[in-house]
Amino acid sequence: MACPSEMYPAIPAPASAVHVLPMAEHIPSAVALPHILDPASDLDAWLASRGQPAWRGRAIQRWLHGRRAMTFADMTDLPRDLRESLEAEFRIWTTTVAVHKKADDGTEKLLLELADGQRIECVLLRDGERRTVCISSQVGCAMGCVFCASGIDGVVRNLTTGEITEQLQRLARLLPAEERLSHIVVMGMGEPLANLDRLLPALAMAQDPQGLGISQRRITISTVGLPPAIDRLAQADTGYHLAVSLHAADDALRTRLVPVNKAIGLADVMAAADRYWEASGRRLTFEYVLLGGVNDAPDQAADLARLLGGRAALVNIIPYNAVAGMPWKEPTASSRERFLDVLRDAGINVQVRRRKGAGIEAACGQLRRVAAGSAAGSLPVL
Ligand code: SAH
Repeated sequence: MACPSEMYPAIPAPASAVHVLPMAEHIPSAVALPHILDPASDLDAWLASRGQPAWRGRAIQRWLHGRRAMTFADMTDLPRDLRESLEAEFRIWTTTVAVHKKADDGTEKLLLELADGQRIECVLLRDGERRTVCISSQVGCAMGCVFCASGIDGVVRNLTTGEITEQLQRLARLLPAEERLSHIVVMGMGEPLANLDRLLPALAMAQDPQGLGISQRRITISTVGLPPAIDRLAQADTGYHLAVSLHAADDALRTRLVPVNKAIGLADVMAAADRYWEASGRRLTFEYVLLGGVNDAPDQAADLARLLGGRAALVNIIPYNAVAGMPWKEPTASSRERFLDVLRDAGINVQVRRRKGAGIEAACGQLRRVAAGSAAGSLPVL
């Protein structure tokens, strides 16, 4: 639940920093029609059963991904009767945009309402040439990390492949025609490795040159660290970048912060991460949310350095993004610097995530709660 905390607002932005955009077009909720972008819909077989050539499937993909069609009627070079049959039998959109917010730094956030009324968040980040999207994999989260807004009410359900893909499609349409999405981070709501069966087809489609054409090297999956699923991902040989959320270098503290650790344990998480590295050859990232007075002491940095010692790893220090009603706080600047110094002196590669999206509840899981009135804060009525 927390998008690249490239976006975590620490200091509330002045109201003027937030622009609330008009709500996107209203699209009626899906009923039971298959999602055109869900591989389970098997568009190719459907086309074949109607005597349509296979290249029509590619033409539809091009319309959806490259030309950003919103409706089947937009696909003007398809025969009219084909467009009408597609319209009658498939959906392009099963979500509606409930809230669309934009921060001064170009970060945009969508709160999407799903066909069953559940809500999820996804974010577009602009950074130089990069156009990174942060997407959700589940409604809520079962992992229970104590500082995270997404898991407060547990997990409601997995997202479908179509719902995951739709986030990419919606965010791509926020860009001007000459810009393309460049990176995907699966760091929104949910535990992506608990929903691999639906996530992997969506990411494969995002890589497809007929689709968004995003190389696997620009796709990052962030996990709490579920060893069997990490192994599955390694076997799938996707080449995705793996980020493992550690937040503590000893089991007692990690279990306090990341309760699912009790049943797993750091040793198994690290062993699975090592196997992923061996299989993929990709440098691992370890995420560490710094919580003042909890996991930010120099000794704890030294423990972390020892835990990571010898690994080709990057430590991503995430500034804690305060969640209403939670007791955690950011570390002081001096304790943060001390923590970083200990890691650097031990030869560890460290990066501190930059904040983006100030003022738009950009950490995933937050906007959903604010919009539902379950957390302090106010949201303009749209
Ligand atoms: N379930 C995945 C994805 C979570 S979101 C995972 O655990 O990695 C991505 C990162 O944001 C995780 O490291 C998560 O622990 C962190 N995060 C969650 N809430 C946060 C908050 N309030 N402030 C800063 N980082 C947070």
